[in-house]
Amino acid sequence: MNAAANQPALSQATLDFLAREHKLFINGAWIQSSGPETIDIINPSTEEVITKIQAGTRADIDKAVVAAQSALKGEWAALSSRQRGKVLLRFADLIDENLQTLAELEVLDNGQPLMIAQYTVAGFGADFVRYYAGWCDKIEGATIPVSPAEAPAGGSLTYTKREPIGVVGAIIPWNAPIAMAILKIAPSLAAGCTIILKPAELAPLTSMKLADIAKEAGVPDGVFNVVNGTGPEVGAALSEHMNIQKVSFTGSTGVGQTIAKAAAGSNLKKVTLELGGKSPVVVFPDANMEKVIPSICRAAFFLQGQNCMAGTRLLVHKDVADAVIEGVVAALAFWKVGDGFQPDTLIGPLISATQRDRVMSFIEAGKAEGARLVTGGNAVGEKGYFVEPTVFADCKPDMTIVQEEIFGPVLSVLTFDTYDLDEIAQLANDNVYGLSGSVWTQDISRAHKLVSMIDSGQVSINCHAAVDPAIPFGGNKMSGWGREFGKEGLEPFLKTKATTVVF
Ligand code: ADP
Repeated sequence: MNAAANQPALSQATLDFLAREHKLFINGAWIQSSGPETIDIINPSTEEVITKIQAGTRADIDKAVVAAQSALKGEWAALSSRQRGKVLLRFADLIDENLQTLAELEVLDNGQPLMIAQYTVAGFGADFVRYYAGWCDKIEGATIPVSPAEAPAGGSLTYTKREPIGVVGAIIPWNAPIAMAILKIAPSLAAGCTIILKPAELAPLTSMKLADIAKEAGVPDGVFNVVNGTGPEVGAALSEHMNIQKVSFTGSTGVGQTIAKAAAGSNLKKVTLELGGKSPVVVFPDANMEKVIPSICRAAFFLQGQNCMAGTRLLVHKDVADAVIEGVVAALAFWKVGDGFQPDTLIGPLISATQRDRVMSFIEAGKAEGARLVTGGNAVGEKGYFVEPTVFADCKPDMTIVQEEIFGPVLSVLTFDTYDLDEIAQLANDNVYGLSGSVWTQDISRAHKLVSMIDSGQVSINCHAAVDPAIPFGGNKMSGWGREFGKEGLEPFLKTKATTVVF
């Protein structure tokens, strides 16, 4: 694997950002945390501390809520919807202008390959914001053709208005930090809400840079706040807060359940949850092998497998199982493991030593439960949290590596020897999660029938996890509540007011 040494020179803007004191962004200014704690930010490729950030406290969340409540009524509310869209468009342009710095910070903080970080900043930073900017002046209510009892003789008009839901608490994970931040910020602002973002303590840097960019774009003070800190303190403070009207969370299922309980036990704030996944990739013998093999690799190993939509259960028909497994193993020879700044790296490090050890314990469970290790299976490198892309064949549905979300570069392969779609769907659905999935076949009837039988929020045909700002994304079963992206992704940030006028 590539050594972490000889990294390319970082841009001056990145160096300047890293060198400064990292405070909390509340009411349009970087302010001192009210607590003494700091968090070391570690480069997962080198294990070096790249900078420190101040950890906020419950008292800081209270300050941010006051700022966000007041911003909800001020200059922000006074903007016309079109002006709000223009602020978002400026925000998007400035994200593009800061692309290199944002991408470098993402690689340092999260470990992902630079090329992926650049692609994400453009596609899931700037373009995502532009997509939601376009919604600002298209948020419409309805007129309802009823005549209430109070107006038997005269006329009446009933209409609905869509209003911002209020102050949003956004809690995000570390696997794709800038995309996760933007997923929350863009629809919140498009809806006219104000937002307090709590980045993951393991990868907060791009969220903080976004605060500077938003300010420069003209987002009024208090509309977008960033409060770092640990999940159990600052995350819990957001989900329990009486003056926050909505929490939008992406992360693990266990924490999602804790947040839902906190919301229910406080002010019944609205909650959307984008949680875990263990998505099936179903391959029939007539699939286009030239397309399916690289796609299986991307589905399973993109972001080192640290992504909720990862296709980590490969269900392949027995007639082509050997050919598919051989093809995947051959393709993985080109998936170089290394520092994200090395140009040929396709697999960076896992986020932390804890995550690496967790993934390795799943690999050990796979071996112990009798799965056949076809390739990989090792942690590598003297420094950094690297794990080889790993493929297990001969898996059985009840194995730990087939049932649990590993959030690492591990693909479990099961075979089926039937064309009975009920049986295949049962295998595909034999998991608590239901986030993504794909079906690979040239038989379009079979494809559509099977898609309709798979209980996931997104099931693609002849591609995996087609992600676009306009395509709704979210999970069934224990993968979560609600949808993000697209028009549906705006809905949870709005509330409906119905008004009847009698005349
Ligand atoms: P992961 O296992 O991928 O780190 P988590 O679900 O643990 O995912 O973390 C996702 C986010 O949730 C992080 O920002 C983390 O700080 C936050 N978090 C962790 N525990 C809690 C909690 N009890 N309440 C609210 N947020 C939390």
